[in-house]
Amino acid sequence: MDLGFTPEEESFRQEVRSWLESNLPAAWRHGGVGGYREEEETEIQRDWQRKLYEGGWLKLGWPQEAGGRGATPVMQAIYQEEMATIGAPGILGRLGVTLLAPTLVAHGTQWQKEQYVEKILSGELIFCQGFSEPDAGSDLAGLRTKAEKRDGKWVLDGQKTWSSGAHYSHKSFLLARTDPSAEPHRGIGFFLVDMHQPGVEVRRIKQMTGGGEFCEIFLSGAEVDDRDLVAQPGDGWKIAMTVFGFERGGLAQAARFERVVAEMASLARERGVGSDPTTRQKIAQAQIEAHVFRLIGLRNLTRAQHGHAPGPEASVTKLYWSEMDKRMQEAAIGVEGMYGALAPESDFSVQDGRWQYGWMWAQAETIYAGSSEIQRNIIAERVLGLPRGR
Ligand SMILES: Cc1cc2nc3c(=O)[nH]c(=O)nc-3n(C[C@H](O)[C@H](O)[C@H](O)COP(=O)(O)OP(=O)(O)OC[C@H]3O[C@@H](n4cnc5c(N)ncnc54)[C@H](O)[C@@H]3O)c2cc1C
Repeated sequence: MDLGFTPEEESFRQEVRSWLESNLPAAWRHGGVGGYREEEETEIQRDWQRKLYEGGWLKLGWPQEAGGRGATPVMQAIYQEEMATIGAPGILGRLGVTLLAPTLVAHGTQWQKEQYVEKILSGELIFCQGFSEPDAGSDLAGLRTKAEKRDGKWVLDGQKTWSSGAHYSHKSFLLARTDPSAEPHRGIGFFLVDMHQPGVEVRRIKQMTGGGEFCEIFLSGAEVDDRDLVAQPGDGWKIAMTVFGFERGGLAQAARFERVVAEMASLARERGVGSDPTTRQKIAQAQIEAHVFRLIGLRNLTRAQHGHAPGPEASVTKLYWSEMDKRMQEAAIGVEGMYGALAPESDFSVQDGRWQYGWMWAQAETIYAGSSEIQRNIIAERVLGLPRGR
């Protein structure tokens, strides 16, 4: 495992830092605002994506022939780390930028690449992901939304759910069954669906955070041109696996957790419980776990540096950080004492309710991108070689 950075990498870090210092407004730092101010957050994320695009950062790891900077995995990790350390907000088109654009580069037609990739990066086109259905989440191959070819167009009928940001998205990358008689993993198509057309209805789902960024999508006779089908009608599963590869192979976020621990320690001092032995132990435990996560991140980075794609070990990373974040957020709520029970938007909430919001949000982290149970199954079967459960 490689624990150090070269002088070139350190100089790249300085470049990222000074760009962030000059371009990231102070009010947008430290994770932005809580979800109960969702509309405000949406606009911040839209503007931030535009700034990053104009700064050339959204193509950092792309090859130079494709207009990218050809940054190594280590440089990309440094970029991510600096973003997390300063508390930069997310970008509005995250799913399009991180999942769809590289998938189109790998599997799209020339027309799809020219039509979509640059617009996805610039934020001109926002895409949401339409994979999950009410009865198809972990078992995604059980999806039932139908796509039928009629008069030269694909006609879609069915229901999607938990689609993040569908209410502000222009399009969706969506899986639908093109051949009901085929085996579950075959006969699925990967479509780019216009969200603003008759036959597409979006309903927001109110969450316990007070936000409503997840949506149900109802499709009744929605139409898709052939040119918006990615690859062949039965290739959707293979393409979805490419998408998941980008999702699960994420770079180290250790800096984010180290920042959370430091902020938790300062919260403890602010609330006058910094010398309480139980609080101190919880914060020390969080610090140890964050450090272990940094080591896991460095191990993954070393693998990537040697050209190895993330394997099933990526499940260890996902399981570790998502479960750790839940514990950290819970410990922080404990530091707030009885104020931790207040709703984030309460006038009396501590630090603008950010810890309550963080705790509620953390509950979702062990569900999306493969739940903890699914990750444990993968670790058991593919890392430890245990027999498949029934
Ligand atoms: C924050 C968030 C954002 C999301 N965004 C999107 C999005 O933009 N687009 C999209 O398409 N989807 C999205 N999802 C949906 C997400 O992909 C699903 O929630 C996830 O795949 C789990 O599916 P499910 O909710 O149907 O739960 P289920 O699959 O029904 O699982 C229910 C429970 O059973 C367990 N379980 C299921 N199968 C097994 C098994 N074989 N062995 C052991 N335990 C099992 C699960 O771990 C879970 O605890 C999002 C979810 C969240 C929380």
